[in-house]
Amino acid sequence: MSNLAENSSSTINKPIRAIRTSEFKDGFKPLRKLESQPAEKYRIGSIGKPWGASEKAEWLAQTSVHRSYVKEVVEKLESTVDTNLFEVKQYGTLTGGFPLMCALSKNWDDKKPNVLVTGGVHGYETSGVQGVLLFLSTAAPQYAESFNLAVCPCVSPWGYERVERWNQFSVDPNRSFGPDPKTHTEESSAVKALLASLEGGEAKWMCHVDCHETTDTDETEYMPARAALAGSVYKRCDIPDGFYLVGDSVKPEEAWHKAIIDAVREVTHICPDKSIIEEPVTQDGCILVPAGKLGLCASVSGAKYATTTEVYPDSPGVTDEQCNRAQRAVITSALDFIIAAEL
Ligand SMILES: [Zn+2]
Repeated sequence: MSNLAENSSSTINKPIRAIRTSEFKDGFKPLRKLESQPAEKYRIGSIGKPWGASEKAEWLAQTSVHRSYVKEVVEKLESTVDTNLFEVKQYGTLTGGFPLMCALSKNWDDKKPNVLVTGGVHGYETSGVQGVLLFLSTAAPQYAESFNLAVCPCVSPWGYERVERWNQFSVDPNRSFGPDPKTHTEESSAVKALLASLEGGEAKWMCHVDCHETTDTDETEYMPARAALAGSVYKRCDIPDGFYLVGDSVKPEEAWHKAIIDAVREVTHICPDKSIIEEPVTQDGCILVPAGKLGLCASVSGAKYATTTEVYPDSPGVTDEQCNRAQRAVITSALDFIIAAEL
């Protein structure tokens, strides 16, 4: 997620650990040394001057492909989904030809509540994508009876391949899901069109889980880049150590969030802080923000139960597999709670 304010007032610094490289396969360029970038100064642009076309072009030119969306997402999705229960469908195409893929419940039933699961809105947040694929290949079938499921494992494939937060037009997709069309991106427009095309429309969406990570590279790369884009200087912020949830302050659903936190605690540690990304916690590992106002993906369906997950992959000893299981635990506990409370 990273801090929601453009600038942080915190002066707490943490040692920056090297970025994980285990997921980067042979044949792709090694990730640039993000940790060598001083947080206060970004390599592109000048302080006091928001980026124009030339700075954006310079940024785009220094991105490169590190992994394959087709191999790691599309082929995995097609080979592991239970085709008796789900159909794999293309719901759009990004500039450059990336097919946007989802899995949908077969025999979509107007009498059942709809559930949306999204991952990879921020392409660099690996477990957001792989955790959703893990849910689909292992746990999703047991919920097919109770819900109509729409699962988009990788909303931003361009960012997934390049391990970037923004899309190719220097826009953060997770600020592009609000009502104002001027703020929309290819990524958000495609998800909105998919939802509109499904029977029942927005009123029928009961649950949406949007899977993200908060990483140490937020501090060394992505937040300094965001500040530079705006022509300002990034001041360091403390990266929270542990899992947390970002709920919607308009509809807090605290009991639902507690059930999710309790389930994730069995898989990985919960952030113990009383304030996370400069927001006060409302309960262990949970903050609330105005999701719709910020244009977060978690606001896109209008679902009563909607949240953003923030897995922390950079703690010593935390494995990629554990991060994926934490994402799955969020989705399954979210749905178990709703079955008990609403159905
Ligand atoms: Zn994110």
